[in-house]
Amino acid sequence: MAQITLKNIAHSYMDAPSEEADYALKEVDHVWRDGEAYALLGPSGCGKTTLLNIVSGLLRPSHGRVLFGGEDVTDMPTAERNIAQVFQFPVVYDTMTVRENLAFPLKNRGIEAQTITERVQRVAAMIGMEDELNRKARGLTADAKQKISLGRGMVRDDVNALLFDEPLTVIDPHMKWELRTQLKRLHGQFGHTMIYVTHDQTEALTFADHVVVMHDGRVVQIGTPEELFERPAHTFVGYFIGSPGMNLLPAEVRGDRAVIDGHEVMLGSGYDDLSGKVEIGIRPEFVRLTDEGGLPATIKRVEDVGRHRLVRAEVLGRPVNVIADEGGPLPSENAQVAFDPARINVYANDWRVEGR
Ligand code: ATP
Repeated sequence: MAQITLKNIAHSYMDAPSEEADYALKEVDHVWRDGEAYALLGPSGCGKTTLLNIVSGLLRPSHGRVLFGGEDVTDMPTAERNIAQVFQFPVVYDTMTVRENLAFPLKNRGIEAQTITERVQRVAAMIGMEDELNRKARGLTADAKQKISLGRGMVRDDVNALLFDEPLTVIDPHMKWELRTQLKRLHGQFGHTMIYVTHDQTEALTFADHVVVMHDGRVVQIGTPEELFERPAHTFVGYFIGSPGMNLLPAEVRGDRAVIDGHEVMLGSGYDDLSGKVEIGIRPEFVRLTDEGGLPATIKRVEDVGRHRLVRAEVLGRPVNVIADEGGPLPSENAQVAFDPARINVYANDWRVEGR
């Protein structure tokens, strides 16, 4: 296992990039700590696969260095980096049996036959394929083949890192949950450095202790699921994470208040040093419908979402979502909304500002 350090990484797929927009990765400085499980989360096209391929060595970055432990591996080929990588689509040998496929990464490594048998048995149990070990991979479903790919990724316990690039895309929804649990268990058992790429926030938040959020070629926040929810470092994290995401309203800060179109909103802590225009962010979970003392709101729509109601309102010309208890009375068309001051985040130029 190794700590993986990315130093000032940038990457462009163009021969002669001339402006920032030409770079798929713009400036990434990041440390994947030894033995930790990370989810790498972001929307399609933000650079997750590019970053993962730079870690694995499938791609050489245009700028910057990659270190495993103290060793610079930027110019080292993938085969020498001692990592296991599982891709979105299955990579299996059709002519081999499931057993042979699973054993493949262990062969030629001088591992005893008995140990190989035990390890293969162990991962076969993890992926639920103990009864199919003697079947040829050819003829198996895409779902089963992807399980074999996952098993092959998990079969070695001496790798520097385990990299997963959206590995559950083709897996049946019921099995997804089971495999994610197995991956977590594997991490608990062997403490691999794991990087798990996904664009699905539920998958990221349930899999990892640390979530690395990417946006437009940059890492914008590294945090626990709770930190991403409570204190999104960037407005993008606010609205990307959550269902629906954070509400954002343009405002001006005056001490412990934000002023929105002449209406004052209390903030949790003072922002005396802040001047000029900001945005205040408040999650739908912390917005309350009220009869007095709030901001004027027009209710546009009410949706039943399981145990809650999602109220779509317009507040001072801006859309504001409210998650309200199902039991309460239906809001009238003209209502008011109030924000829990302690739950308000303040953003200047899209980045979160810490209050006093
Ligand atoms: P997805 O979830 O869709 O796989 P991603 O976050 O993994 O997206 P990347 O695949 O790393 O994003 O792509 C980042 C950017 O680089 C995108 O704009 C993409 O179009 C571009 N890109 C990726 N691979 C190549 C390539 N081989 N040649 C040219 N451009 C590429």
